[in-house]
Amino acid sequence: MKLVSSARFVTPPLTRRKREWLSKLLDQFAESVNFCIQRCLAHGITSRAGLHHIAYGEWRSKFSIATHWFHSAGQVATQTLRSWRRLCHQGSADPKKPPVYEALTMRLEIWTEKNSTGICWFFGNSIQIRVRRGEYLWLPLVVTKHHELMYMRDWREGKKRVGEITISRFRKDRANVWVPFKREVKVKSAEGVCGIDVNERSINLCILKSSQEPKFIRLDCSKLPAIKHASQLKRKSIQKKLDVPPQHPLQKQRLKAKYHRRERNRMNQLMHVVSKKVAGILSREKVEPVFESLTNIRQSMRSKRKSKNGKALRKDMRRRLNQWPFHKFQFYTEYKTLRSGYQTHYLPHEQVRGTSSTCPICGARNKPNGRMFSCKVCGFKASRHFVGAYNIAARWLTKNVGSHVPPEWRQMQPMVDGAVLQAKSSVKVQKTRDKFATGF
Ligand SMILES: [Zn+2]
Repeated sequence: MKLVSSARFVTPPLTRRKREWLSKLLDQFAESVNFCIQRCLAHGITSRAGLHHIAYGEWRSKFSIATHWFHSAGQVATQTLRSWRRLCHQGSADPKKPPVYEALTMRLEIWTEKNSTGICWFFGNSIQIRVRRGEYLWLPLVVTKHHELMYMRDWREGKKRVGEITISRFRKDRANVWVPFKREVKVKSAEGVCGIDVNERSINLCILKSSQEPKFIRLDCSKLPAIKHASQLKRKSIQKKLDVPPQHPLQKQRLKAKYHRRERNRMNQLMHVVSKKVAGILSREKVEPVFESLTNIRQSMRSKRKSKNGKALRKDMRRRLNQWPFHKFQFYTEYKTLRSGYQTHYLPHEQVRGTSSTCPICGARNKPNGRMFSCKVCGFKASRHFVGAYNIAARWLTKNVGSHVPPEWRQMQPMVDGAVLQAKSSVKVQKTRDKFATGF
């Protein structure tokens, strides 16, 4: 199994000449991609080979950069079109509006012995881009300790290979360089599965192994909604203050961007912490994670999914759930567990329905009532979140492995309770005034 993890490098401040060169190349790349998109649409082409066949001559006469740039641009163009077609098919893009490549980034193929159409070389502490025959742009890279430990050592030993490099300009005089490192991972066979149920304030794991009682782990992560809430308040107050005339649209934009950035960075960091914790548990227990499939999760929240009263979810509840970065959490956990050799599974969309309302003992559907789950048919009682996590694991096991979970597990109690990112309790400490009590 191939494991890809991208490293972000930053260049040291570039000279003016290099900056101008780079931005010219970025422009040329975007133009090339748009040119390729137009040709693909005009001739109904979906593959890179077909594109090469019909548009190469014209591209050559239009652009004065090395011919291999055409391959990299064609790659991006065909991929952009593919995802656009998929979105059109799903109904979330307009088929009459073809995509336009506006991103200020370029994705360049790397030159290897196998891939002679590459235009980019990676040397560890710098990259070299071929512009024209005999004309190269060198970008030095700042290699930190983190890069050295995580990527460079393995890369030098030949354990990791480098994929397509993405370059973008960012603030002032530096450029961003993303380098994907690929590694082959041997997939281990797991001893069992672990259902993962994500809730607003907690992540619940249910570990199922053959001939063992289910094990539950609850990870408290109430810090996440707390951060979301705090930054929401912050945004509101900024809006309130800056909406009063005289208006400063630029300042408002800048402030909003700043807080958005801050919030995103914080959330990413927290997601890394949580997913690392989860991946640690998974590799310790030697189990494969099973997630709910997230296909159409946003849409389902918008309309179909009903709350316990039978109405669509309330607006603020929807907002709160929409803010939870489910996908990010799954993505991080997936690659972190793959590092230790375990594959991630997804419970298909059709099977996700009713995971937290089906009784694990008798299979009856119950309306969830508060935090506790209680079955009206057989009287089984447990925490609702654990029932959800258990059902995810059990359904996947029954369908894919065929092993059924013994029905005699009636003591479904939370066993381990781990606080990863607990929100700070907002207890106000009373200030002592003794200092000022002068005693008169
Ligand atoms: Zn029951």
